[in-house]
Amino acid sequence: MKSFLSPEFQVIRDMGRCDQCRGCERQCSFGTHGYIEALDVMTSDDSKCSGCQRCVIFCPKNALVIRPTQSSYRPNAVWSREKLDDLKKQAETGGVILTGCGSDKPMRIYWDHLLLNASQVTNPSIDPLREPMELRTFLGQKPDAISLGEDGVDITTEVGPNICLESPILFSAMSYGAISYNAFKSLAMAACNFGTFFNSGEGGLPKDLREEFGRCAVVQVASGRYGIDAEYLNCAAAVEIKVGQGAKPGIGGHLPAEKVSHLVAETRMIPEGTDAISPAPHHDIYSIEDLSMLINALKEATNYQKPISVKIAAVHNFAAIASGIVRAGADIIAIDGLRGGTGAAPKTIRDNVGIPIELAIASVDQRLRDEGIRNRCSLVAAGGIRCSADVIKAIALGADATYIGTAALVAMGCTLCQKCYTGKCNWGICTQDPRLAGRVNPHIASRRLANLLRAWSMEIKEMLGGMGINAIESLRGNRDHLRGVGLYEWELDVLGVKGAGE
Ligand code: SF4
Ligand code: SF4
Repeated sequence: MKSFLSPEFQVIRDMGRCDQCRGCERQCSFGTHGYIEALDVMTSDDSKCSGCQRCVIFCPKNALVIRPTQSSYRPNAVWSREKLDDLKKQAETGGVILTGCGSDKPMRIYWDHLLLNASQVTNPSIDPLREPMELRTFLGQKPDAISLGEDGVDITTEVGPNICLESPILFSAMSYGAISYNAFKSLAMAACNFGTFFNSGEGGLPKDLREEFGRCAVVQVASGRYGIDAEYLNCAAAVEIKVGQGAKPGIGGHLPAEKVSHLVAETRMIPEGTDAISPAPHHDIYSIEDLSMLINALKEATNYQKPISVKIAAVHNFAAIASGIVRAGADIIAIDGLRGGTGAAPKTIRDNVGIPIELAIASVDQRLRDEGIRNRCSLVAAGGIRCSADVIKAIALGADATYIGTAALVAMGCTLCQKCYTGKCNWGICTQDPRLAGRVNPHIASRRLANLLRAWSMEIKEMLGGMGINAIESLRGNRDHLRGVGLYEWELDVLGVKGAGE
C-alpha cells in the first residue's frame, strides 16, 4: 500500500561542505542517508528521518541541517497536521499508535506559573559559597515524636529504614531492556558516584551490576514480576512496587521480542526473543489490603532493612489513594505525573490520561498533613522535572525529592525524537542493538549525568540561599515561598499558593 504520509523532516546537505565521508550514513539506524557509488554522490530519504539530529552533530564538516519540513497541509485549526498524520498511520496499519517520551501536548506547565520568593532586608539571604547548605534528604518513614533516654539527652527513638540522598534528585525507573546495558550502567555509576539512587525499572537488575551498584539501586516489583528473587530484593537499597506510570496509567507494558536479547532475557528470567508483556494490574492487588500484604511480604523478604516505595500514576482522586497507600505501610510514595516519560506507550493514553504532577503533589501533601500522617511516608515527585527550578518548586509544593528520567536521558544525548519504541535509538540509549548501544560510553555518560546533578544542586543551593533557607527540608511543603502567576482561582486553591502580589 502506498503511504500517504509526507515526511516530517527535511534533510538539507550543503554539497559545498560535504566530503562524502559517509559518516551520516553510518550514524543513522533509520537508513535516512545513502551513497550512490556509480555517481559518487550522497543521497537522503526525508521520509525515514526521525529528527534525532545524530548525523548533524557527528558530521565532521557541519554540512547537514535537519529541520521540520516546510511543506504543509492547508492550515486548519481543528485538523492539525499531527491529527491528519495519525489518521493516515492508522488507516495504513490498523494498529495502535505507539510513541516514546512524555506527552508533548501544550498543556499548562504549572512550574512555569509558579515563582519563588527571595529575602530582602529582613531574614537576610544566605551565601551558599560561604556558608554551609544542606541538601541531604532522607526518604522513608519518620517517627511521630522524638523520645529521649533517662539522661534526657540521648535520643532513643527507633527510626525505620531510610535511604540517604546527597541531593533531592533520583534517577527514574528505566528498565534494562527498554534502555541499553550501557545506558543502564551509566545511570548506576552516576548515582553511586554522586550519592543518590537509580531505579531498575521493571526489568530486573543484571547480576554483574549487583555487587557494585546494588547499594545505589531502587529495585522495582512490577506486575510482570520480571527478574525478582530474594537476592534481587536484598542487594538493593530500597524496593519499589510499581502500580502505575505517568505515561501510561492503567495499562501494562510491552517489551517487543526483538529487544529481548540474551542478557535481557536472563535478567528478566524469561525466554530469549519472546515478548515481555506486563499485565495492567498486579494480579494479587485488588484492594488497599492486598497492597498492604505485598508491602509486608517485601518487608519480610528484606528483613525490615529496606524502605518500601509504591509508585503510582497521578490520576483523579489521587490524594485519597495516597492516604490508603500510607496506611497500607508504604515508606515512600512515588507519584508520576501526566508528562512522565516512557520507552513505549500508546500515544492516545500518553496524551489523554492522568493529571499534571504539580497538582498531584500539592493535593497529596495537603491531604496527608490534614490527616496527620505526612511523616509516615516520603513523597517523590516525577514526570516532567526539567531543571533545578522545577525540583525546588516540587519540594515547596510538598515533595521530599524528585525523580528525573527524560532530563537524565538528555544528559546522555537523547534529543526527544520519540522513536524509543522502535529499538533503533541512534544515541545508543533505547536499543539492544550492540552496534548502537556501544555509542554510550558509561564512563563518559555517567560523568555527564553526575555533572548535571552537581549543577542542579548548586543552583538549588543558590535559590535556597536567596530565600534565606539553609536546609532543603525547611522548604518542604512551605508554599508560602511560592506565588502563582496567570492561574485561575481553582488552580491556586489546589496548589495551595497565593497569587503573585498577595
Ligand atoms: S557526515 Fe557530513 S561530510 Fe560526511 S557524508 Fe554526511 S554530510 Fe557529508
Ligand atoms: S532515547 Fe533515543 S530514541 Fe528515545 S527519544 Fe531519545 S534519542 Fe530518540
